[in-house]
Amino acid sequence: MPKKLALLFMLFGLTRYAGAQQLHARWDELTASDWSQALKLSDSVCILPIGVLEKHGPHAPIGTDLIRAREYAARVVKKEYAVVFPDYFYGQINEARHQPGAFALPERVAWDLLEATCDEIARNGFKKILIINTHGGNWDFMHYFMQTRLEKRRNYAVYLYQPRTGDPEFEKQFAKLSKGDLSKGDHAGEMETSEVLYVRPDLVQMERTKSESGAMQPRLTLKNTYTPIWWYAGYPNHYDGDASKSNTALGKLEVDNVVKDISEVLRGIKAERQTLKLQEEFFDRVNAEQK
Ligand SMILES: [Zn+2]
Repeated sequence: MPKKLALLFMLFGLTRYAGAQQLHARWDELTASDWSQALKLSDSVCILPIGVLEKHGPHAPIGTDLIRAREYAARVVKKEYAVVFPDYFYGQINEARHQPGAFALPERVAWDLLEATCDEIARNGFKKILIINTHGGNWDFMHYFMQTRLEKRRNYAVYLYQPRTGDPEFEKQFAKLSKGDLSKGDHAGEMETSEVLYVRPDLVQMERTKSESGAMQPRLTLKNTYTPIWWYAGYPNHYDGDASKSNTALGKLEVDNVVKDISEVLRGIKAERQTLKLQEEFFDRVNAEQK
């Protein structure tokens, strides 16, 4: 490459980078005049972090899931730019309604709100929406929501981040830092509490971790059967695990790992053109079939 051209490329690269540095990522922190640049730098990708408000044992904040989702997104966009939708905590959380602080909207409101939010994000120019969900009780809702996006044609695509498992390097570090048994699950337990300890230590009351039990209570044991009361039956304290074993290093390991993973996912989504193309093809065929 001729020297002059190389210099031009370098300069272009630098201005693009400088622009990205100055541009805020959160939707609510951008100015309207930033919008077109934000759309360009994000490749029209908006991240929608979703948590809920629910009890997290006697020691961790009600917004634990929201805090984690928000933190992941904030860290991800420092590596790879995208716009981040502000706080969204309207998920499926009926199972926590017997505990203080639970915010559970009627089912259809939660559904309509998510659909309208995605439509409204797209109306503002985003072609791709990446949902980051941190609440275990939301997964069935999220998957059904995703599947039903094929119900009608839309000019945008929704992607759902699926947490990765089984990375050998992570597993090795995890084995060193984890002090309890995390094989069966964790709600406000060692792992989740470690994450909050890492990102917001001021919000964790470690002296309370033993004031309630996080052990599974075998009050309902039905074979190969799903019931809506299963979580309440086993974990009426909204606490699964032993948070007294939490530590900042474990929290950092998990947060860094998830952030690295989502950053790769985001890079892939920004670059790919196939999803929207296939959606269009699919709906053309649906329409042709109906004629
Ligand atoms: Zn949680």
